[in-house]
Amino acid sequence: MCHPSNESDPAGVNREPEFREALCEVGRRLWAKNLVASNDGNLSFRMAENRVLCTPTMVSKGFMDPESLAVVNLEGRQVSGARPITSEIRLHLHLYRHRPDIRAVVHAHPPHATALAIVCEELPRWILPEAEVNLGLLPIAPYATPGTQEFADAINPWIDDHDAFLLRNHGAVTVGSNPYDAYYRMETVDQYCRILLLAQQYGEPGRIPPAGRDALLEMKRKAGLPDRRYDSAPPPKPEHFTPLKGPLTDEPKLSPLARKPESGSS
Ligand SMILES: [Zn+2]
Repeated sequence: MCHPSNESDPAGVNREPEFREALCEVGRRLWAKNLVASNDGNLSFRMAENRVLCTPTMVSKGFMDPESLAVVNLEGRQVSGARPITSEIRLHLHLYRHRPDIRAVVHAHPPHATALAIVCEELPRWILPEAEVNLGLLPIAPYATPGTQEFADAINPWIDDHDAFLLRNHGAVTVGSNPYDAYYRMETVDQYCRILLLAQQYGEPGRIPPAGRDALLEMKRKAGLPDRRYDSAPPPKPEHFTPLKGPLTDEPKLSPLARKPESGSS
């Protein structure tokens, strides 16, 4: 498939059908993996500097049509889409305004991660390599009413150098370079929390030793991933929105779920 450069397509219009299908596919996976229930959660993708594709309110993320998605600008004004957007888009736009290096946001209610966000002050560190590299400290932001600006601002202490956040008594948010990247981070969030819950049944979890921690941080620093525990400065992140290069993914779609629910269900 040909992917025009952003220079020739600054509004991302040529690739919009691909972006819409990607957001629906990620919604199907969230629902199929039980990371959302009912109409929970919301997804967005920054197609161009001031055009954000997002899920409308009150739809199951497992059964979305590409045409049902909405487009908003960074100020939160809906510019297309028949259904109203979710009020939680404030959190997504807050992230895009503060993080020009990210293009996708996934908000879900993953059950194991949400359970720990209800009972823990902070999560144990240095348990699994994947979690340290892909999630980092995984902070727990204080509770705020969903959809309010206070809700968006709750992640401010960690927004610049974290790609995954738990929301106390609510759920989780992940960001990434495209919808799949943010989605995979969400999978890792819940997998990590599930393993923590399983491990603690048998005692105090063992920790990665200090030399192993240093090696993981160096690996992460070289990959350009944010982490405030670095001893030396990481590679600089882009300060402005940058063109999308290459395909979003080459993976097959989760086609068995690509259907509408029977009439009467929601
Ligand atoms: Zn939520």
